[in-house]
Amino acid sequence: MTDAPESDIAAPVAETPASPLDFSRLPLPPHTLANLQRLGYDQMTPIQAASLPLALAGHDLIAQAKTGSGKTAAFALALLANLNTRRFAVQALVLCPTRELAEQVTQEVRRLAAAEDNIKVLTLCGGATMRPQLASLEHGAHIVVGTPGRIMDHLERGSLRLEALNTLVLDEADRMLDMGFFDDIATVAKQCPRQRQTLLFSATYPEGIAKLSASFMREPKQVKLLQAHAGSKIRQRFYEVREEERLHAVGLLLDHFRPVSTLAFCNTKQQCRDLLEVLKAQGLAALELHGDLDQRDRDQVLVRFANRSASVLVATDIAARGLDIAQLEAVINVDITPDADTHTHRIGRTGRVDAEGWAFSLASLDEMGRVGAIEKALGFTSDWHPLSELTPGGPGPLRPPMCTIQILGGRKEKIRPGDVLGALTKDMGFAGAQIGKINVNEFSTYVAVAQDIAPQVLRKLAAGKVKGRAVKVRMLED
Ligand code: ADP
Ligand code: MG
Repeated sequence: MTDAPESDIAAPVAETPASPLDFSRLPLPPHTLANLQRLGYDQMTPIQAASLPLALAGHDLIAQAKTGSGKTAAFALALLANLNTRRFAVQALVLCPTRELAEQVTQEVRRLAAAEDNIKVLTLCGGATMRPQLASLEHGAHIVVGTPGRIMDHLERGSLRLEALNTLVLDEADRMLDMGFFDDIATVAKQCPRQRQTLLFSATYPEGIAKLSASFMREPKQVKLLQAHAGSKIRQRFYEVREEERLHAVGLLLDHFRPVSTLAFCNTKQQCRDLLEVLKAQGLAALELHGDLDQRDRDQVLVRFANRSASVLVATDIAARGLDIAQLEAVINVDITPDADTHTHRIGRTGRVDAEGWAFSLASLDEMGRVGAIEKALGFTSDWHPLSELTPGGPGPLRPPMCTIQILGGRKEKIRPGDVLGALTKDMGFAGAQIGKINVNEFSTYVAVAQDIAPQVLRKLAAGKVKGRAVKVRMLED
């Protein structure tokens, strides 16, 4: 950590000039800058550097950049700058395509708002029961993040009012259009005050976006950052496979490269199911994300993968839509997608802000045409390697570093991450370094702990107390 210069000492003449990517170049209050530093946001990402000056100057904005480029903070800092915390009414609305995304955005907004007291952020999504949402709305909120359908519901009931709104954000606008939300978005936008700032963020720029912006944005500025940096951090490799060795090849890759977290994309649900079976038979900790899971199971799968207690998540493109999982070491294209944009999206999941990543693609002779089309569209030449080069990189099958323990009890029981961490470290004597992510959901809490202490943690938690109360616990494994 660097020491802050003492204020009574004259600044050295040759101080290093602020880089163009320093947040301090933006008209942001000191507490916000300090908070960004605390979060480890040392510099703006390119899309933040391109869009924040415009957004903070009050312009409407259409910003396009790939997944993982830091778009959330780009709009969150802008909407926070427009906020009057003393006015207790909804002043910003963020529309997102899915519940997971809305929850991720809520978390990021909360982290960025942490510099100021008492900013209330509320998530309103379908799939959740209405009553708690109505109660929360009655208590009031400054910022609402939600999916278009549920926001419409609340507008119709009159439980959500937007007359104090000054910032409307459309996040992942391309996805919302894909999902058929055009009319809903238009309806919501019509209910917002005319005098407002509208910010539209998108990974791609399909036709519908121009139509959206034409219908309710005011002289929007456009910022586009295409794949300029994508290639540098993602190492792509292609392997030619025969159909019958394709699924087995996934295990070979994992065994050779030993990435901690891998997202494996298949073109079909059936392929996902088959792959999951093969991976499990090989002793790998694999989970599947598919559309038939109910919301609770889906949440659980995502928590377990993100906290590093599963090595592989198998998914179709639709199921994986919009997931933001940091620290993904590898993406595997189990099948080659017929669509070059989809390929870009898939491999964009790895090599996030400052991590390098691998993107492996398995292609059969039948798929060579697709590979050619992708090379042409994205302007690269694929780097081919033989499967025979893959040798086991360690003893035994790849194991995830962590294991998830579920505590039956969550926000409803007023459990907070600190309570669980305190119970494990202070009361039970485990080292903080052996405890990973702690996710508190409405009814459950998930704690990631190092594999080797998991049985002990389970025993002590079952016998001990969290927040002064006995709790039911179980280990999640399969
Ligand atoms: P996008 O919406 O473009 O897909 P996100 O907003 O989800 O990207 O950001 C991706 C990740 O990068 C998040 O984990 C976020 O916390 C992190 N991040 C964003 N801005 C910065 C920054 N300036 N410095 C470091 N990390 C950042
Ligand atoms: Mg995003």
